[in-house]
Amino acid sequence: MILCSDPRAQYLAHKADIDAAVARVLASNSYVLGAEVAAFEREFGAYLGGASVVGVGSCTDALTLALRALDVGAGEVITTALSATATLAAIIAAGGAPVVADISDDTLNLSPAAVERALTPATRAIIAVHLHGCPAEMDALAAIARKRGVALIEDCAQASGARYRDRLVGTIGDIGCFSFYPTKNLGAVGDGGAVATTHPALAERIRGLRQYGWDAGRKTREPGVNSRLDEIQAAILRVKLPHLDSDNARRRAIAARYDRGLAGAGLRLPSPPQHVSAVFHQYVVRTRSRSALMARLEASGIRAAIHYAVPLHREPGYKSHLRAPASLPLSEHAADSVVSLPMYPELTDKQVDAVIASANDVLVAAHVTEAVHV
Ligand SMILES: *Cc1c(COP(=O)(O)O)cnc(C)c1O
Repeated sequence: MILCSDPRAQYLAHKADIDAAVARVLASNSYVLGAEVAAFEREFGAYLGGASVVGVGSCTDALTLALRALDVGAGEVITTALSATATLAAIIAAGGAPVVADISDDTLNLSPAAVERALTPATRAIIAVHLHGCPAEMDALAAIARKRGVALIEDCAQASGARYRDRLVGTIGDIGCFSFYPTKNLGAVGDGGAVATTHPALAERIRGLRQYGWDAGRKTREPGVNSRLDEIQAAILRVKLPHLDSDNARRRAIAARYDRGLAGAGLRLPSPPQHVSAVFHQYVVRTRSRSALMARLEASGIRAAIHYAVPLHREPGYKSHLRAPASLPLSEHAADSVVSLPMYPELTDKQVDAVIASANDVLVAAHVTEAVHV
């Protein structure tokens, strides 16, 4: 079976170093916010060009605490309809009023024009999601945020190491939020997350919020939560961080191989803009024959996935909590047609070629070049 993502393959690729890192923590007798978290925060901050980094329990918490540190309160927060449920969950957890807007059809990312239409006097923040590892249109979003005096948060859960023009994502808006969920580009072996910011005061505030609202002297300034990056996860992330850029380069090489192999398969292939360096958290194709493609792949022992089948304004548990137009046509169309093909750095060329061969078979079987193209 060729899996869609395979975090164990990455553990096996760095087994000796990861085992040693875990053993070091076990022997340290310092299990919460110890030397490993502090070192990882320093190292990831240096990787991000000198940003302040605060390790937290997950990206959902990173987004929640970012919204709290930016004093969004009960204000409106605009984000994309095509993202992980977590983006929406965080806005609600922070007490904000979520507003979801439509995507740009070419990148599947939040449309700046749709954000303009969704702005109201109550808007306090915009959350840009770098979906599937492709940076969102940050120049336009930052211009809107600046003009309207609202905060700009980057949801970098799928985009560790991606660049927009020459800047690493997570350092462009006011705060960048990262996930170290095992399948992400920089993944731990459990939950983990971080915020990055070039505003030291915001970092300090989140450092307090992640731990009951404590300051360095354990005095409280405001109510906080318990959301700390775990010491063992931090030790493992320190092993993996030096490989992030080469892993992302391998993801791009796999994407290029898919591009060549699938050029005639009647699928709509991803096309990141020239001015970004995408990191292909997922390689997402679009097709009207999604079930046929997925069934064919499954029959060949290949696991594909859908990111995401339900746009956020249609999430049953969240619908009543958010303001969104009755219809967001581009998000809905994408949700009906996207398929994520296997993508992780340890995937071999031979496995990629097997996926390509199987996907091309669907076209032969369907005899409908036009019909499968979205
Ligand atoms: C994974 C993900 C999250 C949530 O990350 P956790 O660390 O699991 O909380 C948020 N946003 C996006 C876009 C994601 O892909």
